[in-house]
Amino acid sequence: MNVHEYQAKEILAKSGVSVQRGITASNTDQAVRAATKLTEDTGTKIHVIKAQVHAGGRGKGGGIKLAKSLEEVKSISNKIIGMNLVTPQTPPEGKKVNLVLIAEDVYYPGKIDPEEFYVSVLLNRSTGRNMILYSPEGGMDIETVAEKTPHLIYTEEIDPNYGLLSFQARNIAFNLGLSGIAFKEMTKFIVCLYNSYLKSDATLFEINPVLKTSDEKIIAVDAKMTLDDNALFRHKDYAELRDLSEENPTEVEASEVGLNYVALDGNDFVV
Ligand code: ADP
Ligand code: MG
Repeated sequence: MNVHEYQAKEILAKSGVSVQRGITASNTDQAVRAATKLTEDTGTKIHVIKAQVHAGGRGKGGGIKLAKSLEEVKSISNKIIGMNLVTPQTPPEGKKVNLVLIAEDVYYPGKIDPEEFYVSVLLNRSTGRNMILYSPEGGMDIETVAEKTPHLIYTEEIDPNYGLLSFQARNIAFNLGLSGIAFKEMTKFIVCLYNSYLKSDATLFEINPVLKTSDEKIIAVDAKMTLDDNALFRHKDYAELRDLSEENPTEVEASEVGLNYVALDGNDFVV
């Protein structure tokens, strides 16, 4: 089961992972209220309007925009809510946006430039172990990084007998080129992220980008999460995270009767 970015961030925050904060809205009035509340809570005057659909690449498709005033929050959310968002990861016909996340700006200027990284946790099916896959090349598709600069992708495999070891978390911070406060923040981030992954029975967490802010905080700006359908019985509270409008109706019907049905593309009819 996939969840929206805002839901994934709630799960992360419960395990102590620092996230870019935000409030959801399904119309422009709610969007303006959300922005006002965020300014009160965080001091941010700049907001990011983020379309909530089960697909990445939203930035490229026009589903993520910066608003510098409440007027812009209103006009941009008016454009994004209800739009048909087409990204490299949606079906060709796109996905309708019913909800946006009004998020705090975390790319504020400061002593140092903000820096983006890529971090994911997933099950390595060939070894049956969890691994952390990461890269200093954040913000881009990991497929592109793998193709163009494969030497900039690192992995840390986790032995289930020992769990994530602290030297592995330090290794990650080191390979990402961090030092000082940001190094410490990153090791904390990785430990909390991995705990959250284990606790939620996930098969994939992809945080792209993880951001080093201009004041050396490490935070999750985006979050993609796949939760293991076969473990959902252990997480009754996850039922409400399901967004049926994002799922294939045939797959929904099949899952209701306990079948694993996978719809495939293609136009050949084989008898
Ligand atoms: P997606 O991966 O679906 O495109 P992200 O949440 O990763 O969505 O956002 C895409 C890009 O938008 C990020 O890599 C980042 O560069 C940019 N972005 C996100 N939030 C902000 C922000 N507060 N200020 C400036 N740029 C942002
Ligand atoms: Mg992203």
